[in-house]
Amino acid sequence: MESGHQIEATNIAYFRHGYDCERGARTDQTEFTGGQDDMRASDCIFCKIVAGTSDSQEIYQDETTLAFMDIRPANDGHCLVIPKAHFETVFDMTPAAFAGVGSTVAKVARAVNEVLRPGGVSLIQANGELAGQSVLHVHVHVLPRRTDDNLLINWDRNSNNERRFDRERIAEIAERLRSRLRG
Ligand code: AMP
Ligand code: ZN
Repeated sequence: MESGHQIEATNIAYFRHGYDCERGARTDQTEFTGGQDDMRASDCIFCKIVAGTSDSQEIYQDETTLAFMDIRPANDGHCLVIPKAHFETVFDMTPAAFAGVGSTVAKVARAVNEVLRPGGVSLIQANGELAGQSVLHVHVHVLPRRTDDNLLINWDRNSNNERRFDRERIAEIAERLRSRLRG
């Protein structure tokens, strides 16, 4: 069984040398307003799926979002939810646009949970290569979880004496975030 990190690394190599090198016809993004309508979008595999110029196993769509099966699933039932408009990361979207994605994620996750009855479902969304993002079009992974599937994002939850667990340090970071979120 591959670990989560191995899967991420494999995907990154695969897309750099595979899908990202594809050059196809420019897809028309104008109908999905608010996206980043530039050269990156025209080469984007997920934009091609939205435009119907690349195949996918679609499972759901509404006006602004699309859900389809991951082509290289980490687990049986692994699927993706994307905005139809091209946004590279969540930082390029308005909160309202991302809320539309979240609404579809909730529907799809419920269906995965009810139909496949896994032990649990993880929802993961990466922004930037460091976070494990290999396709630069916002997507949320819906990952059915099964015993011993080894797909954990591995940080240590148990250790007691690390600096990052210090309550004052946590409080200080919380205050910085609070003051930004107060606007
Ligand atoms: P990430 O590494 O978080 O950016 O995830 C990208 C995901 O997109 C990977 O799990 C890929 O397997 C998946 N993927 C890439 N191309 C396609 C495609 N054409 N159809 C379905 N899934 C894809
Ligand atoms: Zn795109």
